[in-house]
Amino acid sequence: MNQYPYILSDANVTEPFQVGIIGLGAMGSSALYHLAQAGQNVIGFDRYLPPHQLGSSHGRTRVIREAYFEDPAYVPLLQRAYTLWAELETAAKTAGIAGPEPLLQLTGGLMIGPRDSELVKGCLASARQFHLDYELLDPGDLQAQVPMFKLSADFAAVSEPRTGYLHPEACIKTHLELAQRAGALIQAPCEVFGWQAIEKGFLIKTATGTVRVDKLVIAAGAWLERLVPELRLPLNVTRQALFWFEPKDAELFQLGKFPVFLLQIDQGRHLYGFPDEGEGFKVAVHAPGEAFDPDQLRGSEVRPEEREEIIELLRQYLPAAQGTLLKTAVCLYTNTPDQHFLIDQHPQHSDLLLLSPCSGHGFKFSSVVGEIAKNWALNQAQGQDLSLFSIKRLLG
Ligand SMILES: Cc1cc2nc3c(=O)[nH]c(=O)nc-3n(C[C@H](O)[C@H](O)[C@H](O)COP(=O)(O)OP(=O)(O)OC[C@H]3O[C@@H](n4cnc5c(N)ncnc54)[C@H](O)[C@@H]3O)c2cc1C
Repeated sequence: MNQYPYILSDANVTEPFQVGIIGLGAMGSSALYHLAQAGQNVIGFDRYLPPHQLGSSHGRTRVIREAYFEDPAYVPLLQRAYTLWAELETAAKTAGIAGPEPLLQLTGGLMIGPRDSELVKGCLASARQFHLDYELLDPGDLQAQVPMFKLSADFAAVSEPRTGYLHPEACIKTHLELAQRAGALIQAPCEVFGWQAIEKGFLIKTATGTVRVDKLVIAAGAWLERLVPELRLPLNVTRQALFWFEPKDAELFQLGKFPVFLLQIDQGRHLYGFPDEGEGFKVAVHAPGEAFDPDQLRGSEVRPEEREEIIELLRQYLPAAQGTLLKTAVCLYTNTPDQHFLIDQHPQHSDLLLLSPCSGHGFKFSSVVGEIAKNWALNQAQGQDLSLFSIKRLLG
């Protein structure tokens, strides 16, 4: 079977396109899908063959959770994101392209930390403000429900039934394949070297030529800064290590028994993990890692100090998980100083939308971010408050 059924190498390009998208990872593939579904003449470019292992969207799983500790303002967006993931799943089944695994797997989730931690307090604030389904677990409840965790007596947890995970590679592939079926043109691998504003629209410059578009969306993830150097955005691209262990007691960590969890280690740092889908128990630290050049990701290996850190954290909090290390991966976060997203127009070009820097927590939103791009291109009301993601806060 062709892994990339949507790639066109010699597309019949009819210019001008109504919208061009640079970057077809999580955000760009969703934007391409929503725009094509809305009948827009849209073209997308990616320097690699998406879904790929060289950006921010690989590693098989991404947490989705609703009681958002980062800020309650994310909750309405999340609720729309859940609806759109379900609709995408249905559309994939109808088109006969659904894979063997669901795009979104609900598992229930535990957000664990000291009772007064940013994580527990933040989840409670979101859950209460939006009347979400949740339970506050005390240490006794935790001991009974998840005895594999080693937690001190001041720990509590918010238990949330709508937590689960997405399969990022499958989500991107589905968005791209359905976008192409709806008429989108995909150019990949095809690196965009630059763009230029013209009287009406933009020229997109690639190794194979120049394409004219009326509106432009840049969703280049860790490479965003390079495509808009004039803005001097304060973005910090960091390397993030991922680990898969064979747990000592594999039964305890199986899908259906073990929840997705986040555990606050200290201010701004969380250990998180997923049930074992058959490839091992996946675990990592959620906090910006070391600053990193995204072009160096190919061939990059997890470092001994990153491995030692995770082994020490498992020893401390989840010793039953600490069996043989099966595999590792390195991925990229693109961090803003306040860890909130960037979703806004270019300050000098109202027909250019910047989508991305998602500070390590954006994948779950990519379904709704694509819809936001479609609303923007069609001058439709957003129906969502996007002020948290404005570019103004990042400029000077
Ligand atoms: C280890 C790790 C764990 C994470 N965990 C979670 C989680 O549990 N839950 C969650 O919600 N989020 C999580 N995230 C964050 C989430 O995965 C990212 O926010 C999201 O994937 C970013 O999507 P993106 O579209 O901005 O970037 P990408 O998916 O990387 O896409 C950018 C694309 O642009 C292309 N591109 C760049 N420059 C050019 C160019 N010049 N020409 C053409 N194409 C170009 C790239 O090839 C790439 O395909 C995690 C991220 C990492 C790294």
